[in-house]
Amino acid sequence: MLRILFSDIKGATKSPAIFIDRDGVINRRRPGDYVLNWSQFTFMPGIQAALKQLATLGLPIIVISNQAAVGKGLLDRVGLEEITKHLHKALAADGVSLAAAYYCPHRREDNCLCRKPKPALLQSAADDFNIELSRSIFIGDSQTDVQAARAAGCRPVLFGAGLHVCSDSPGWKADLPVALTTQDLLQVTAKCLRGA
Ligand SMILES: [Zn+2]
Repeated sequence: MLRILFSDIKGATKSPAIFIDRDGVINRRRPGDYVLNWSQFTFMPGIQAALKQLATLGLPIIVISNQAAVGKGLLDRVGLEEITKHLHKALAADGVSLAAAYYCPHRREDNCLCRKPKPALLQSAADDFNIELSRSIFIGDSQTDVQAARAAGCRPVLFGAGLHVCSDSPGWKADLPVALTTQDLLQVTAKCLRGA
């Protein structure tokens, strides 16, 4: 697991957080490829404005992401840190303070303990920042994000159409809060936080 912290660890009292997947939510996926440097990082349309709105909720915002490019030798940890520092800086210029990023650097076949849909990235962040998982939200675009959220005991919010599916169970999106566009993210997340 690779953790990159931008904020002081551990609040005194347990509080909720907003976890957010990276590729496909914050930035565009590169079909069949990975983001290997900052010049390949393209923000999803409207996501910076949406993150600015989410930041008004006053909760820590933490990136939770699988980055198998590291395990495949396409990107080293320093390179991933560089991309993350650029992301932090770009968001900070907008007034959005990213608290941390937690990455699984492994390949699927490594059978590690941290790759989503396992909940370890969320659990480590919760330990580090004294986060109450049951009152927290995880915004992701794939079924593995939803599964990780549920395994950690926090609330999934599906961003987009949910095209990244890893099983053939057709009902996986049933009863799931969905934000189809960046314009919906604040409202859906806020509603979900109230219900949590
Ligand atoms: Zn891992």
